[in-house]
Amino acid sequence: MIKPLLKVDGLKKYFPVKKGLLARTVGHVKAVDDVSFYVNKGETLGIVGESGCGKSTTGRMLLRLLEPTEGKVEFDGKDLTSLSSGEMRKVRSDIQMVFQDPYASLNPRHTIEKILGEPLLVHGVKSAKERRRKVHEFLKVVGLNADHAKRYPHQFSGGQRQRIGIARALMTNPKLIIADEPVSALDVSIQAQVLNLMQDLQKEYNLTYIFIAHDLGVVRHISDRVGVMYLGKIVEMAESETMYANPLHPYTQALLSAVPVPDPDFEKKEILLEGDIPNPADPPTGCMFHTRCPYKMDICTTVIPQLQEMDKGHSVACHLYGEEGGNDIKNDGGVL
Ligand code: SF4
Repeated sequence: MIKPLLKVDGLKKYFPVKKGLLARTVGHVKAVDDVSFYVNKGETLGIVGESGCGKSTTGRMLLRLLEPTEGKVEFDGKDLTSLSSGEMRKVRSDIQMVFQDPYASLNPRHTIEKILGEPLLVHGVKSAKERRRKVHEFLKVVGLNADHAKRYPHQFSGGQRQRIGIARALMTNPKLIIADEPVSALDVSIQAQVLNLMQDLQKEYNLTYIFIAHDLGVVRHISDRVGVMYLGKIVEMAESETMYANPLHPYTQALLSAVPVPDPDFEKKEILLEGDIPNPADPPTGCMFHTRCPYKMDICTTVIPQLQEMDKGHSVACHLYGEEGGNDIKNDGGVL
């Protein structure tokens, strides 16, 4: 059996809600609530959900940019949650992040050479000549050239800046890249270029990706497996092809119905979810999705559905598929 590169077990992040002059804790926002998954070497796991579902918080906890409230993160055989900050700094060369807004994450006063050279310096490459050589090498790898090293972030387009963000992530030869909405801020035509680049780099450097997005369409071609999150929990997890051909959770079905289909003869009815995502400080009882679900049953308002495996590698958290539910939900290629 293959040992996963990353294994996440029961990960939680609860933010305290404080009130009054004494800032007393009166409750918690469960931003991530008991999330477990694994990622194999060389694989891409897509994590999808609306904003506020906890996907970015999950990504940040893997690198301990945010400390988990509870749970275990095992990377390459090491329990990251038990490492000291010094030990964690060493691991950070193996796990890198690519952010949604490269402009915000690139220091506007520094040249690209300085920005890309910094991770090398932190990880012990003392020679300026060697750093420059690597910067030039990785600029070429992401489709830019050595002359770009002298420029500043504002002199690049959005797509070029994201290429620089990707180059920065590659500088320390990482094993895992966590890409948090890396193409959401880009035009659709540029999105495809950046996604293709990421796929090529994955093959060339044997990279493992966690690809976070709010749109199932974006992660479709890049992901081997996809997990769908809603209000801090994973509600469905499956291999990519299975998820798109046979989505089980009503929320996944609604998300998929909004993904455009390139075939003009294929008529697809979008499932419009009623209401907004509930306030995470005051979440619904039972199934968190019951306030918006077209299939809500009595049990859904009181009992939290647990993630259960329906088929090999395909898990869902929904009472429709339990003994209590109807289990006769019909879908046709992602459309109800
Ligand atoms: Fe809908 Fe009930 Fe399933 Fe939740 S458990 S998704 S409310 S049918």
